[in-house]
Amino acid sequence: MRIDIATLFPDMCETVLSESIIGRARKKGALSINCLQIRDFSTDKHRRVDDTPFGGGMGMVMQCQPIYDCFNSVCEQLGSKPHTIYMSPKGSVLNQKKAVELSKLQNIFILCGHYEGVDQRILDTIVDEEISAGDYVLTGGELPALILVDAIARMCDGVLSSPECFTDESFFDGLLEYPQYTRPETWNGLSVPPVLLSGHHKNISEWKLQQSIAVTKALRPDLLK
Ligand code: SAM
Repeated sequence: MRIDIATLFPDMCETVLSESIIGRARKKGALSINCLQIRDFSTDKHRRVDDTPFGGGMGMVMQCQPIYDCFNSVCEQLGSKPHTIYMSPKGSVLNQKKAVELSKLQNIFILCGHYEGVDQRILDTIVDEEISAGDYVLTGGELPALILVDAIARMCDGVLSSPECFTDESFFDGLLEYPQYTRPETWNGLSVPPVLLSGHHKNISEWKLQQSIAVTKALRPDLLK
C-alpha cells in the first residue's frame, strides 16, 4: 500500500511514522508513506498557502491551488486517482470497520487541514470522504491522520508478524479484548487467573470469550447491541 499525506507540517507526521512498527515496515518496504509539504506546491512568490475567509470570520483558510497541484503530482506518479480522504471534525468518526475497509486499498491520499480549514471547492473537487478523529476540534488534521494511518497500516501485509496480531484485538469481532497477563504469576499479592496457566487450550479460549463479553458489557454495552 502507498499512502500520501498532504500537510503543512510534514515533519510532525514523519517523526511519528519513522518509529516503531510502522517505521520498521516502511524500512523493509512493506509500506510506502510519503509526507508531502503542501507549501512546496504553492505558485505564490512568498509560498503562501492560505488567505482570509470570504464573508468575514476568524482565522485563515487553506487555498485550493497548492493542494490541487500537490494532489495532481501524486495522481501523475500513480497514473490514477488515489482514494482521497480529508481529515475533518465534520467527517464520519473513524472506527475499526472503516480502517479494515481502507487497509484493502492500494493508494490513499490524506489531506490535513489547518487554521480554519480548507476552501470547500477543493474538497468538492478531490475528496472521496471526510473522516473525523472524534467529536472535538483539534488545531490540525495531522494527529487524526497519524491515527488513521496507524490503524490502517497495521493491517497491511508484512507490517505485523501475522493477521492474528490484529484480528485478536478489541473491536475486530465487535467485542473488547479479554484481560492480558504476563510474568510473574503473582505480583503484589495478585495472581494470574489459573486457567491461563493450565495449558488447556479449549478452556483458555472459552475463558477469553467469556471475559471479552463481560468486559464489553461493563465498558461498552453499546457494542453488544
Ligand atoms: N473550522 C473547522 C470547523 O469548525 O469544523 C475546524 C478547523 S480545525 C481548527 C483545523 C483542521 O484540523 C481541520 O481542517 C481538520 O483538518 C483538522 N481537524 C480538527 N479537528 C479534527 C477532528 N476531530 N478530526 C479530524 N480532523 C480534525
